[in-house]
Amino acid sequence: MANLFVRDLREIAQGLPENPSEWPHIPCPTCKRAGLTLVPDSLVHEEAATSEAAYSHQEWYPDWIYGGFHCILQCHKKTCDRVRVVGRTSVYLERNEEGYQTLFSPLFFMPELPLVESFGDCPRLVRQRIEAASTVLWADPSSAANRLRSAVEALMDHHGIPRRGFSNAKSYDLSLHRRIERFKTVKPEYAQAADLMLAVKWTGNAGSHGSAIRVSDVLDAVEILDRTLHYIYDTSAEEIRRKAADIIARKGMPASQFTNLPMPPF
Ligand SMILES: [Zn+2]
Repeated sequence: MANLFVRDLREIAQGLPENPSEWPHIPCPTCKRAGLTLVPDSLVHEEAATSEAAYSHQEWYPDWIYGGFHCILQCHKKTCDRVRVVGRTSVYLERNEEGYQTLFSPLFFMPELPLVESFGDCPRLVRQRIEAASTVLWADPSSAANRLRSAVEALMDHHGIPRRGFSNAKSYDLSLHRRIERFKTVKPEYAQAADLMLAVKWTGNAGSHGSAIRVSDVLDAVEILDRTLHYIYDTSAEEIRRKAADIIARKGMPASQFTNLPMPPF
């Protein structure tokens, strides 16, 4: 199934328009169901002093304007945490009569927005590292890519894939690439998951080596990692199979009445 959070986050990455009623669905980190809306009067934005100082430049143009904003978002469920947002502002030219409009580009959400809907039986450390990627996703996508890569390292640890190899009586560090290949060899039932993890590793490597990783690149890696977790840790398909077998065994009778009613032959 497609990761709907990633779809929402891709829209947020385009920037939030000046009119909050046009903001995309922002998933609630607490219930992971509803969308967040702006707390009335909580949005504050101002132009940077250095932006105003640039007006005197002879080549100044309105799209040089920039600044900062902060606001509070809330879920319609009162038991969900409110979310604080900090970010940058820029301006864009609206095609209709509106002229220049402010664009809000979030840098931090606190608490962080969800990336994965269900972690199944995924180990706690893998989950923590994926959530840690969301914390820095907007401000430092390269760092977020690295955190996803470290989630794959934790996944290898969980499956007992050694960190060190031996050759000529000497031990050496195994690269993550080699560990994933070893995982594929010893657990061929997860071969598809291993191939996906290699892609997450490459994105993480690119982030470490100074390549310009964008939010959209990280979200690609999140989608791939989400599918990997689905292959390895999702137990819902087995639960559904067990439920179906149980209903067939009871021939459709409610479980509470099963012992008291005569059984139809077919
Ligand atoms: Zn909520």
